[in-house]
Amino acid sequence: MLVRFWGTRGSIAKAGPNTIRYGGNTSCIEVRSAAGTLVVIDCGTGAHGLGQSLVANPKQAVHGHLLISHTHWDHIQGIPFFAPLVVPGNEWDIYAPRGLSQSIQDTLAGQMHYTYSPVTLEALGARITYHDLVEGVFEVGDITVRSRYLNHPALTLGYRLEADGVSIVYACDHEPFSRQPSTGKIEIGEQDRQHADFLRGADLVIHDAQYTATEYANKIGWGHSTAEYAVDLCTAVGVKQLALTHHDPMRDDDSLDQIASAMRARSSLWMACAGSHPMRATSTP
Ligand SMILES: [Zn+2]
Ligand SMILES: [Zn+2]
Repeated sequence: MLVRFWGTRGSIAKAGPNTIRYGGNTSCIEVRSAAGTLVVIDCGTGAHGLGQSLVANPKQAVHGHLLISHTHWDHIQGIPFFAPLVVPGNEWDIYAPRGLSQSIQDTLAGQMHYTYSPVTLEALGARITYHDLVEGVFEVGDITVRSRYLNHPALTLGYRLEADGVSIVYACDHEPFSRQPSTGKIEIGEQDRQHADFLRGADLVIHDAQYTATEYANKIGWGHSTAEYAVDLCTAVGVKQLALTHHDPMRDDDSLDQIASAMRARSSLWMACAGSHPMRATSTP
């Protein structure tokens, strides 16, 4: 499976000369199986660029599957600007955690109410089917998807995708269940162990790493991981490649370089801060 990062920023888009290399757009990831099944994970502002690339050939209808981790703005704000949803003849399935009080269709319609958006959800031209998810397993084309709740101040699902003999996990936004001292050495309790099992043996994990361990003391309860937690957990459960993502909007390209090199000194696991370079999960990396 091939993965392209169209948005790697957490919380709010941050365009500018200091975020060019890792990108300033919020969460959006394109995944393709070898057979061509298209999965988009999250639909932050990065979805605009992805959408333009998908409609570049107007003669080709686009059938895709959009997996939404949760409905915080940095994960859905690209939806009104995601061109493949506008074009009649396209077909999309949208999956997201089942809300406590309303469906995903109602939540997305709220974001596109005419008070906020010139285009309403009903005006989108593509045929869209909505799926309200809980934890479970389902098929998307030739990809098997497993969903699991994460620890975040909103109902949030992580996704594990399996196809072509490889597996990719997307775990964003997520905070460790155990508290982490500034040394970064975490005491792994039962709930973190279950989270680790979800990542176990994956060929590629794309994991929340908004903070560093030294910053975390001031961010407890905000719903995000540290780079140290992501690296230690993935190292412990035999992950093959790790992409750190949901970069803090206060972080420039140089500081992401520093985090990547500090994490490489911490573990021999292959890792990178997610950015503009595609990554491939293969059985022989
Ligand atoms: Zn987020
Ligand atoms: Zn969030």
